[in-house]
Amino acid sequence: MTSLKKFLTYFTLLIVLAIAGTASAKSAELTGIDVFDLDNETLRIEISYEGKRLDSDNISTDLRSGILRVELDNALPGRISRISGTQIQSGARNFVEKIIANETQPKHTSVQIHLNSAVENDYVKVSIERANRSEKKSERIVLDVKKYSAQDDWNWGETDNDNAYQRIIVLDPGHGGSDAGAIGPTGVTEKSVSLAVSLKAQKLLTADGYKVIMTRTTDIDVAAPGVPDSTELQARVNKAPPDADIFISVHCNAFSNGTANGMETYHAPTAIKGSRLARLLNEELFRLGGLNNRGVKAARFFVMTHSKCPASLIELGFITNPREEKLLASDAYQQKLAQAITNAVNRYFNQGGSD
Ligand SMILES: [Zn+2]
Repeated sequence: MTSLKKFLTYFTLLIVLAIAGTASAKSAELTGIDVFDLDNETLRIEISYEGKRLDSDNISTDLRSGILRVELDNALPGRISRISGTQIQSGARNFVEKIIANETQPKHTSVQIHLNSAVENDYVKVSIERANRSEKKSERIVLDVKKYSAQDDWNWGETDNDNAYQRIIVLDPGHGGSDAGAIGPTGVTEKSVSLAVSLKAQKLLTADGYKVIMTRTTDIDVAAPGVPDSTELQARVNKAPPDADIFISVHCNAFSNGTANGMETYHAPTAIKGSRLARLLNEELFRLGGLNNRGVKAARFFVMTHSKCPASLIELGFITNPREEKLLASDAYQQKLAQAITNAVNRYFNQGGSD
């Protein structure tokens, strides 16, 4: 390389560096994203940044189908890329699936927050909080998102309210036949617990006037022994008639460590009615069953993502935990869980109580 070429290369590099330096000095640079489960109504997202101060003209938002897009002019993603640099507070973890930040145009950053629990479309309140040294907080954009409220479901319920209409509940006792599911330390099987609780719930729900469809009522494979999981699970989904109102799959949890404990309920990501069903089931199972509450979670379990009606999968407790195995096998405790499922269904359809 000639010395002139060397000089030119060096010079070009300097210019590029200078431009890059200028760009960042005139831009905001994101430093972190925090998500808080603020209260019953609000999920709060705080995007912290340093560098140039942003104002409302630099920020636009769009919330649809559970995805919050935040467009930031004069901003660089900085240290934030996929998830890293983000803090999701424990209470808010159920709400966030992933966060992606990219510089989509020069000095324009697009942040996508995938919220997997129910939030209202088109409702985002944007404010800018200035740095607060005593709280060790940098400048931040505060986005308040409104959680989906049960009150709105109430209205939906009324629009198709018909006294003569019999609600159809599908109960799916997990596993069965060749598939025992998880097995407890003394040999109690998940398939027997899920069936016993579901049969008890069937009785209670039928007495309350529901039409109950069971995916199985005995110890069988619903499709056939030895078929792929997806075939077996699809056979269960297919048991639901087209006009089924809700689908509840009943399971027990398992873990290699016997100390794992507690109950949890699931819904499919962004399923609004499903998440309400999962929440009501969670509340009632916690109230009557009394186990450690592991929360309401979103997941892509086959029966939930393939169900044509709102669906929830419930984990009654850990069959691998000696104390919970004993409870899950007891007739009296199974009856409590069946009552909890029935209460949740009644609340879901606004019968016998609020919500
Ligand atoms: Zn299971």
